[in-house]
Amino acid sequence: MPRFHYTYISSKAGHLTKTAVGSRSGTMKTHPLRTIFITLCLSAFLILFIPGSRLHAGNAGLSSFEGTDYSPVYDFEYYTARYTDIAAIYGNDPMGALFHFVQYGMQEGRQGCAAFDARSYAGRYPDLKAAFGDDLTLYYLHYIQHGASEGRLGTGNVPASVPEDKPAQGGTPAGRTVILDAGHGGRDPGAVRNGVYEKNLNFSIIMDLKALLEAQGYTVLLTRPDDSFVSLEYRYAFENMHPEAVFVSVHCNALAGSSNITGMSAYCNVLGNENSPLLASCVYSGALSATGAIPRGVKEYSDLKVVLYSTIPSVLIEVGYMSTPSEFSLLCSPDYQMIIAEGIANGINAYFGATA
Ligand SMILES: [Zn+2]
Repeated sequence: MPRFHYTYISSKAGHLTKTAVGSRSGTMKTHPLRTIFITLCLSAFLILFIPGSRLHAGNAGLSSFEGTDYSPVYDFEYYTARYTDIAAIYGNDPMGALFHFVQYGMQEGRQGCAAFDARSYAGRYPDLKAAFGDDLTLYYLHYIQHGASEGRLGTGNVPASVPEDKPAQGGTPAGRTVILDAGHGGRDPGAVRNGVYEKNLNFSIIMDLKALLEAQGYTVLLTRPDDSFVSLEYRYAFENMHPEAVFVSVHCNALAGSSNITGMSAYCNVLGNENSPLLASCVYSGALSATGAIPRGVKEYSDLKVVLYSTIPSVLIEVGYMSTPSEFSLLCSPDYQMIIAEGIANGINAYFGATA
C-alpha cells in the first residue's frame, strides 16, 4: 500500500497542479465521482505523456527526461530542500520532482541546483536576453546545451565575459558559422515508418554534414547535439542569437496515403533575411545534383517557424519521402545519407562563394 497517491487537478487551462491526497491526511475533499474522473484523466495523461521509458535514472540520481540530461541545472536533493511545497509533495518521489521541475519549475524560475539560476543567467547575458526574452525555460535549455561549452557561468553576480561575436563571414570557411538543425528529437519522432524515426535519419545526415563542414574549417553549432526534445521556439531563438551564422535544417518528408511521391523540397522566408532564398536555392541545388533526386521546388514565403522567425539566412530542406518505399530505403542508407550531406555542404560552399 503506497503511502501517497497523487492526482492532477486542472487549475487553469493548460496548467496542471499535482496534489497529494490520501493516507496522510485521511481526508478526501473531492467528490468520489470527480475523483474517478480525475483518476481516469490522470491515467490517460500518464500513458500519453510520461511513460516510464522516457523518464529514467541517470548515474548521479534521476536527472534525465525525454533524452535531455538536466543534471547541469537540477538536483533532486537541492530542489526538495529549497522548496517546502515540493518537499511536501515529492520528498519521496524523485520522478515526480523531476517531472515537476521540467513541466513547471523551470518556467516558474525555481532554482534547481546551486550552480544555476535562470534569472541570474538571464540578467547577465544581453545576447540571451535579446533572444529568449521572458521565457525562462529557454535559459535552462541554453545552459544545458551550450552555456558551459561557451564558458558562461550559471550563477553569480560578477559579469562573465561573453564570447565576442564571430567576425563577419570572410573569404575562408574559418570565418564562417553554420547552425545545423536536425528536425524533431526526443519525444517528437517526426515521421515514422517501419519503426524508423525521422528524427534519427535527420540526425544522421546532420552529423555527416557537421563532419564535412568542420573538416573544411567551418564553425558548426547544433540546435540539438543528441536525441533531445528541442522546441521550435528554442530553435529560432538560437538562430537569432547568432547573427553571424547561416541556418540549415534537415527533415525527411512523408505523405499519408501516398507511396510513390519522391524528391526534395526546400523552404525559406525572404522576409526574415534577404539572403535566405539564395541559401535555399544553393543548398537545394547542391543536394539535388549530388543525389539525382526529383526536384519539387523552393518555397520562398514559408510559414515554417524555423525559417519564418529567423533573421539570419536560413533554409529547411526536406531530403526525401519516408512514405515511398524506394526513397525510404535510400534515406535509411548511411551511404545515401552521406551523399545528401555532401550535396548540402557543396551548396553551403556555393552560397558563401556567391556572397563573399
Ligand atoms: Zn520533419
